[in-house]
Amino acid sequence: MPWLKWTDGETKRVKIISTEPFQKVIHWVGGRSMDCHGSLCQMCKLGDRSAVRWSVETVTDGEGMTWEMANMVWKDLAVIAENQKGLAGVVLDVIRKGMARETRYTLILVGKEDVAVPAPASGELGGGGAAYPPSYDEQLRAGTLPPVPGGDRGQEAADRVRRDAGGAAVYCKGLCERLGEDARVALGIFLGEAGKAYAKVEATAQLAAFITHQETRLEAEELEAAKEKVEVDLDKLLA
Ligand SMILES: [Zn+2]
Repeated sequence: MPWLKWTDGETKRVKIISTEPFQKVIHWVGGRSMDCHGSLCQMCKLGDRSAVRWSVETVTDGEGMTWEMANMVWKDLAVIAENQKGLAGVVLDVIRKGMARETRYTLILVGKEDVAVPAPASGELGGGGAAYPPSYDEQLRAGTLPPVPGGDRGQEAADRVRRDAGGAAVYCKGLCERLGEDARVALGIFLGEAGKAYAKVEATAQLAAFITHQETRLEAEELEAAKEKVEVDLDKLLA
């Protein structure tokens, strides 16, 4: 089903058909959302705070739409659902005010109706009705993780991350510190710039690619510093 979207100041009448919400945990990286991989999540290990998102299926303007919302909005909806003794059939006027981080949704209960349309299974929720892809943890267990970009060096870095994700995150933070950068910010920028190349790659490969990238930059900087030192020493000898 298509995603439900509001323009600023718009009110929509929304009828909820899901009996339960679907929950997922994400990180905002370079303006895009990235799934949180739970115990193995690299963004969590780098200290980035994850955010919980909720979605329910609705009928809005006579059309099936998926409504994805932030935790704060879900809290309001959950109270209404509890008072109405169920989520399915709740009809609301939803008003959106403000933009971006200042966006606020006001939920006004219109009533409760019977739900004629059966709610799809939670695993089938979301844009286009496609099932959510298997999580990183599931792929790791099934041995179906895709190959890592960056050749042997990328693969080595990925193996290191898979063996000891915590250690790799600490190592990565150290590399960034030596470059005078904050690891969380630098990773966000890297993934934002690398864009399409790494957006669909699993989290281990994303961190591995970033480690390789930072190592290469640090090596170049160190090589430059070593060259300068040799030049200074030569100047002294020749003076
Ligand atoms: Zn995470």
